[in-house]
Amino acid sequence: DLVEVDAPVVIAIDCAGDKGLPRASGLKDDLFASDGQITKRPVRALTLSALAPRVNEVLWDIGGGSGSISVEWCLAANGCTAVALEPRQDRCANIRQNAAQFGLDHRLTCVLGTAPEGLMNLPTPDAVFIGGGNSPALMQHLWDTLPTGTRIVANAVTLETESLLLNWHGMHGGDLLRAELAESAPLGRMRGWDRARPILQWSVTR
Ligand code: SAH
Repeated sequence: DLVEVDAPVVIAIDCAGDKGLPRASGLKDDLFASDGQITKRPVRALTLSALAPRVNEVLWDIGGGSGSISVEWCLAANGCTAVALEPRQDRCANIRQNAAQFGLDHRLTCVLGTAPEGLMNLPTPDAVFIGGGNSPALMQHLWDTLPTGTRIVANAVTLETESLLLNWHGMHGGDLLRAELAESAPLGRMRGWDRARPILQWSVTR
């Protein structure tokens, strides 16, 4: 079915029967081509909320994976653009496929490369998401080079990245959000909770 995203762009996505594409962030994971490395729907919704896209803003999506964050950023407001930085060729291919499938190839670019080196010569962002490849060197690079007012959102699932975010929150403030989510799943003939790894999200304005 046809969904108007940003006239005159009209995309064809078979989603939710004939009801069209939902307008809220946190689309179903299976709408995106991915190899399983994708920010899952509930965490993606929390992440888009923290990134807070507005009309005509630019996102850097570091560790793009499937590009799901970039896609939802571009869908959120007219004229939004995203650059996804991703070192794996196969994942860049997924990002480009997802951009095309959502009718966003004019607004979503995938750069094949590694942070921080791959960030040179990109358009100045309004917001930066770090979903992979975080390190003390990357945080320092961003802090030293981003203009004041840039929103930075970083998600951590590993202890190492979590400790990096705790340190930077200690130095610069901002907000820490810890999400421990569980979804129902069959357990024999009954049901139980399938727990996702806890994530820590740090949001700060430079
Ligand atoms: N937010 C993505 C999932 C990110 S998974 C989505 O919704 O699809 C983390 C990604 O970070 C992986 O694809 C990995 O290849 C990438 N990555 C790892 N090290 C990186 C680095 N130094 N720079 C950029 N990306 C990196």
